[in-house]
Amino acid sequence: NQQIVLKSRPVGEPQESDFALVESPIPQLGEGEVLNRTIYLSLDPYMRGRLSTNASYAASTELNSVIVGETVSQVIQSHHPDFQPGDFVLSNHGWQTYAVAKGKTLRKLDPNQAPLSYYLGVLGMPGLTAYAALLDIGQPKAGETVVISAASGAVGAVAGQIAKIKGARVVGIVGSDQKRDYIVKELGFNVGINRRTQEIASALKEAAPDGIDVYFDNTAGEILEAVLQQINLGARIPLVGLISQYNASSPPPGPNLLPLLIKRALIKGFLVSDYQHRFSDFARDVTEWLQSGQLKYKEDIVVGLENAPRAFIGLLRGENFGKLIVEVSQ
Ligand code: NDP
Repeated sequence: NQQIVLKSRPVGEPQESDFALVESPIPQLGEGEVLNRTIYLSLDPYMRGRLSTNASYAASTELNSVIVGETVSQVIQSHHPDFQPGDFVLSNHGWQTYAVAKGKTLRKLDPNQAPLSYYLGVLGMPGLTAYAALLDIGQPKAGETVVISAASGAVGAVAGQIAKIKGARVVGIVGSDQKRDYIVKELGFNVGINRRTQEIASALKEAAPDGIDVYFDNTAGEILEAVLQQINLGARIPLVGLISQYNASSPPPGPNLLPLLIKRALIKGFLVSDYQHRFSDFARDVTEWLQSGQLKYKEDIVVGLENAPRAFIGLLRGENFGKLIVEVSQ
């Protein structure tokens, strides 16, 4: 059995020397278990997170252990009634040629329904990512503009085409002219932008003259920064990946959005003017809480209109303590 194990934790871009090919005996079968030979192994960006001990949405791989990964395998030997030698299964065997699994962790695949490798991509985890993040969080409507980064990749290419199916105008950002031609000419994206040769902000302005309604973010970093300058009222941003920072050895400047992804946290812009319909509930509840003492309130009252400028300057410095009010007259 050939296995690729993690030899050392990469710093920055992984090097081949961080990996090692080792031989081990083919594992023995236990009760309810199945021996599989790997046919296809999926390589996915999340694996970079597994190679380090930094916080990620995937657990860290131990040194000298086999690197994780989804696989399509063929059953060689089975001690489980649902699987026969020759069956194809979706499994999680990682970077190795043979593996034993509990039958209940395997999903049988039908090779007549789709090429087997598709179950690792468009019909598998990346496809579901594209479908669910776009439709459930992005919620594109016909006529809206959807921007997608890493647009020719496993997730992005599917997300972009689903957005087209839903009637959106779709702009893809990619890393080469060949990829740009592919997403426009073959996949039907409206516009492609090459992030390596074009200035992203101005290219986006031209590609999305009506602004951006959905940004399917696979990268974070400078693409996100450029997109944010052009988002529309009520835009939605599924934060799906931050590949621009996966190799970074220290957090990027500015806020690091990775915890948002890991914790599925929500950031939503707020303007009080949208919430006038909440006024009567607010007034009723807060009046009651003030009267019962559940809500305390502190004011910082400055006397005299002439003191307003100094008090205002102080507000920005933190010199006020409580709600700053000027008592103009008694
Ligand atoms: P891809 O097939 O898109 O491959 C990665 C691509 O990312 C590269 O080809 C490259 O495309 C682009 N890229 C690499 N470095 C950078 C960079 N510094 N700035 C901008 N783009 C870069 O991978 P996937 O489709 O499998 O994954 C896409 C994203 O989705 C990843 O961030 C991944 O982590 C995330 N993901 C998240 C999941 C979740 O549950 N949250 C599940 C699955 C994926 P190009 O040359 O076009 O720039």
